[in-house]
Amino acid sequence: MHFPVFDDFYQRFLFLLPFVTNFSPQDRRFTYDAPDQWQFDFPQCGGPEQSPIAITAHKVIPIGLPPLYFGLYDEPFDQLLSIKNNGHTIEFSVPTTVFGERPYITGGLLRGFYETMAVHFHWGSSQSKGSEHLINGRRYDLEVHIVHRNIKYSTVEEARNYNDGLAVLAVLFKVVRTSHSFYQPGLNEVFGSLLHLTEFNSTYTPAALLTLGSLLGTLDRGNFYAYKGSLTTPPCSPAVLWHVFAEVLPISHQELPKFWQLRDRRGRPLVNNFRPLQSLEARQIFQRSPFHEYLWI
Ligand SMILES: [Zn+2]
Repeated sequence: MHFPVFDDFYQRFLFLLPFVTNFSPQDRRFTYDAPDQWQFDFPQCGGPEQSPIAITAHKVIPIGLPPLYFGLYDEPFDQLLSIKNNGHTIEFSVPTTVFGERPYITGGLLRGFYETMAVHFHWGSSQSKGSEHLINGRRYDLEVHIVHRNIKYSTVEEARNYNDGLAVLAVLFKVVRTSHSFYQPGLNEVFGSLLHLTEFNSTYTPAALLTLGSLLGTLDRGNFYAYKGSLTTPPCSPAVLWHVFAEVLPISHQELPKFWQLRDRRGRPLVNNFRPLQSLEARQIFQRSPFHEYLWI
């Protein structure tokens, strides 16, 4: 017997099967053309406790948070960095240090230890500033994110299912009109790599052996805001304990435009890769500064 309708259906099903079985939400691509549409492919992007947010002094609760502790941050890596243009940002995985383990943090809002996984950036364009977080109503020119995984979870994919899964350190940058480079040797290596990373999927390895702390230069590591939020890219998991430093670092007006030269997977300028502000709702923002610590002694 012959069932033409069934055969037709069956053939279509077989045709689709490899796509169905290989497909996972994490594989879906996203763009910054319409971030308000992300939630239709990634439901958590429309959920609670989203990032970034505007941090304003009058909403901040100055409590005696412990300082952050930066384990192995100032020890050299045991290999060179491989920086990649992944179409959304430039990013590198953080290697182990000469002590055989990756840098880690604890303190602040964190209970337990968080191992550094990767570093990436968000920026604007010649028309627009591009930090993700705002401080006291100001959007800045550039924001770097250092992503850490709670060591009680074995992968970032696992960690993002838990509200204590990830910790991100954020540093904001303000463009200044000076040609000399600032004391942040790690960042200067990254900025110097940008001209080699113009094309989508390109990678570049700076020759210098760096420390993670050298990305932060002379940053005041003791003064930061902290709140519970999410990844700022799909799947927008509400799994991030954010620590945003209060000090804004300088970036030369000769370095910043190098970011605007990068291109995405479609060959278009990779610019304005920042997510719009999300509502704070009932969340609290804490601030830790040496002054507040003094009050608690
Ligand atoms: Zn980010």
